[in-house]
Amino acid sequence: MSTNNTLIDIRSLKKYYPVKGGVFKRHIADVKAVDDVDFKIKKGECIGLVGESGCGKTTLGKTLLRLHGSTSGRIYFDQPEKEVKELEKLLASEDHHDRLKGHKLRKKLDLTSFSKRKLMGLRKRLQIVFQDPSNSLNPRMLVKHIVGEPLVAQKLATGVDLEQRILKLLDTVGLGEMHMMRYPHEFSGGQRQRIAIARALATSPDFILMDEPTSALDVSVQAQILNLLKTLQTELGLTYLFVTHHLLVVKYISDRIAVMYLGKIVETGKTRDIFDNPRHPYTKALLSAIPVPDPETGIEKIILTGDVPNPIDPPSGCRFHPRCSFAKDYCKESVPMLEDSGNEHLIACHRWKEI
Ligand code: SF4
Repeated sequence: MSTNNTLIDIRSLKKYYPVKGGVFKRHIADVKAVDDVDFKIKKGECIGLVGESGCGKTTLGKTLLRLHGSTSGRIYFDQPEKEVKELEKLLASEDHHDRLKGHKLRKKLDLTSFSKRKLMGLRKRLQIVFQDPSNSLNPRMLVKHIVGEPLVAQKLATGVDLEQRILKLLDTVGLGEMHMMRYPHEFSGGQRQRIAIARALATSPDFILMDEPTSALDVSVQAQILNLLKTLQTELGLTYLFVTHHLLVVKYISDRIAVMYLGKIVETGKTRDIFDNPRHPYTKALLSAIPVPDPETGIEKIILTGDVPNPIDPPSGCRFHPRCSFAKDYCKESVPMLEDSGNEHLIACHRWKEI
């Protein structure tokens, strides 16, 4: 459908959770989990989304799949670039008629405006693998029913065809016929995650949100699952958004990395560029925290002071300024925008050229 190589294009996406208080449970504030995020994912790439716990990574991923409704913003999934540009122009127009035209076109292009029916049709192209397979798999269902469920729900296969497709999916993830009639508790953590991956692959998706898929696994099993995901990506031409706080995992599996801090993306770039030449002070601090085998290497550790601020009342200007050792007074006042340093490496910091 699309004439470009962008699969997902997110514009000014916000996800706020209302906080209610007082005797009448009135809306008193918002938790700004995702705040004005612009972001593109190319077809066939794996983009790693990293940041501390609570920075909004998983919320961004789930909002993107519309598992959570968005507060505002647009999400374009596999839409022609020309039409997206036209729509953005109409929505930004001062003219009332243009904006009306834009709202009509939005229902056709923007995932956040799709009806339930239209979204249901798209579900098979967008899938998710959750962090903990012990919780994401129904303990009362047989493996064959777990893996076949999306095929049945989407009316994609029945009878013998269904059985054969389930078998093929299990084979793809390194399991077999003997596993079909077992329950999830009869498997190890790694095998359970393989079942979850088979289920995600059932509808032949284009895009899979990997929500910390290896965090709940033993280190040795993590490597097997990562290798499996990498092979599947190449063989099936999949696009991944890989959410994790584990930087070495993301270094291994991702083509590009996006660093998130307190609801905003502060740096994106190719994996090698981010690791070799991080520009944002927050990215530098995250990378310096990776343990090294030899503590005598002399690599300078950047210790972040203080906790992540409260997303209900984030700091003014650059949200990182209370913890940034390079902050100047103007950092407290103006919000840094993502700026291209070349080679698709974007940084949101007023001072990246100096530090
Ligand atoms: Fe630090 Fe200022 Fe850059 Fe924010 S904008 S990261 S406070 S130097």
